[in-house]
Amino acid sequence: MKTSQFKAEIAEMLDLVVNSLYSKKEIFLRELISNASDAIDRAKFLGLTDKSIVADGSEWKIQIAADKGAKTLMISDNGIGMDADELERNLGTIASSGTKKFREMLKEKGGESLPELIGQFGVGFYAAFMVADKVTVETRKRGTDASFKWESSMSGGYTISDGDRDFPGTSITLHLRDDQLEYLDYWRVSDLVKKYSDFIAYPVTYRQVDIPADEKEDDRKSREEREAKPLNTMVALWKRAKKDVKQEEYDEFYKHLTHDWEAPFETVPFGAEGQVEFKALLFLPKKPTMELFMPNQKRGLSLYVRNVFIGDDMEMLLPSWLRFVKGVVDSSDLPLNVSREMLQDDAIVQKIKSAVTSKVLSTLEDMKKKDAKKYDEFFSSFGTILKEGVHTDWENADRIKKLVKYPSARSDAGKRIFLEDYVKDMASGQKDIYYLISEREEDARKAPQLEAARKHGCDVLLFCDPVDEFLSESLREFDGKKFVDVAKGDVAFGSEAEQKAEKDANEKATKELGGFIEAVKKELDAKVSDVRVSTRLTDSPCCLVAKENALSPSMVRMMRAMKNEVPEEKRILELNAEHPLVKKVAALKGSELSDAIALLYDAALIAEGSPVTDGARFTKLLADLMMRQ
Ligand code: ADP
Repeated sequence: MKTSQFKAEIAEMLDLVVNSLYSKKEIFLRELISNASDAIDRAKFLGLTDKSIVADGSEWKIQIAADKGAKTLMISDNGIGMDADELERNLGTIASSGTKKFREMLKEKGGESLPELIGQFGVGFYAAFMVADKVTVETRKRGTDASFKWESSMSGGYTISDGDRDFPGTSITLHLRDDQLEYLDYWRVSDLVKKYSDFIAYPVTYRQVDIPADEKEDDRKSREEREAKPLNTMVALWKRAKKDVKQEEYDEFYKHLTHDWEAPFETVPFGAEGQVEFKALLFLPKKPTMELFMPNQKRGLSLYVRNVFIGDDMEMLLPSWLRFVKGVVDSSDLPLNVSREMLQDDAIVQKIKSAVTSKVLSTLEDMKKKDAKKYDEFFSSFGTILKEGVHTDWENADRIKKLVKYPSARSDAGKRIFLEDYVKDMASGQKDIYYLISEREEDARKAPQLEAARKHGCDVLLFCDPVDEFLSESLREFDGKKFVDVAKGDVAFGSEAEQKAEKDANEKATKELGGFIEAVKKELDAKVSDVRVSTRLTDSPCCLVAKENALSPSMVRMMRAMKNEVPEEKRILELNAEHPLVKKVAALKGSELSDAIALLYDAALIAEGSPVTDGARFTKLLADLMMRQ
């Protein structure tokens, strides 16, 4: 026999789990039944290719046995079982990263939703300690002869020893605490199974072990009758008509599937007939998880082929920009002995993928039309991921573009508009859709580059999500209108006549300021590629603009932060010839002129939200200037 201690952090966490949970201890049963069902799923799946695993021809089942005398509740399955290594790995350790996350979450959430947190962190099994002071696990792995026994009373660590189980599977015996004996009762257990585990695909039965010697004949009959019947209906939820399923049932199934502690945001049951037949039950979660933004995160939909669970990491059933969608797809058209590699290229899988994608899109389109507030809630959570679709999914890009929202210069802070709203409100004669890239919405709203657009009554979309800049390339056009960056190249607003008038004025101003422009060019030669009179400014003295195809300053900063080599690309300084400050600086001479030009340049950086390059020099110049007053 081997005695081991739980890792320190696990002990601490177990203590929290057990001692901080006052309500909803009942979920331990859901967790153990889910594990049993997963173990049978795995056995069944492996049995497809390795017949020796299922040679006993057993009927898959999950049994609950209550012993009132011994105060024990046993949950047994005839699933895959565990060998000694697996036992050690699965029940003796929890990935410490998971534990760390768990602890952080606990801090954040206070104590309210503790029980719901447990499942989420792969500690479902430990929920047993909420009701038991000792837990014994006896298990034998399918295809092997050896059985093992794991036992723990939590604070004393755990022991692993040889067991004497003579059939494959796992039994978990809970030695219930004295104040938790209600879980031995048939009605209590039966209600819990109906509430949380009704859709489990294998029969869950209840059996009373210690029958009183003086049990009356009638009692015996009714007991045997009810014990013969499974407690769950076993009908896969996705196969039942939507009208026959209560939302609570969908919610429980979603929690079982995802370990999310909250109900889903949206439930989408649907099916297809004809070319490909399948049933699907999709869920949109309420909140994104961190994993969604990590590269290589694998979770996808769960795939069943003729009721056999094939796997729950079926990314091939969804495009990556829909990786937040959870759920089940069940098809009878796929061969059972599928391998992942085969699935990837399978024509049926491709058809399912496109049907699922289209269904999610139409669900969102409906939501957008019928419940704007709900759609906004969805978009706040998943908008960033959705936008990836415009970039990566050419087939659906046009539909996705209609679902994407942006803040705009004209709309209130915190409000976003659809592209079609933008187009509807375009100024007369406006041909293009204008946007400005910035790291922060507050900076964008104040950017000098917006001034001319404002003057001409044009709205500007504010691209402040880090993915927006990547996306600006892929957006290309919407409703026949091009996307134009107001901080790049030459932007011309207004009618042709207005543009002509502006050009003339610009040429005149350039002539008048000629000497000054040359002086600025000389002074800032190392920093800017050109200096010219601006047509985009009304209120600010100056701003910096990039060439047509240049990266924005925020993108350059981000790429450098990621250790990419980005060559310095000089921008153009535009001056507002009408601005009193520019007129005043133009009249200066000597060192006063040089200092003022340096300050003008720094002011342009600050106005767009970029840092000044030499803070010390800037402060000195500013101080000198103030002292001159
Ligand atoms: P989770 O189920 O979220 O992974 P648990 O703490 O509930 O986390 O279980 C840990 C692991 O122990 C499971 O992933 C599984 O590998 C194993 N396990 C638990 N219960 C059983 C069972 N009844 N049969 C076989 N393996 C099991």
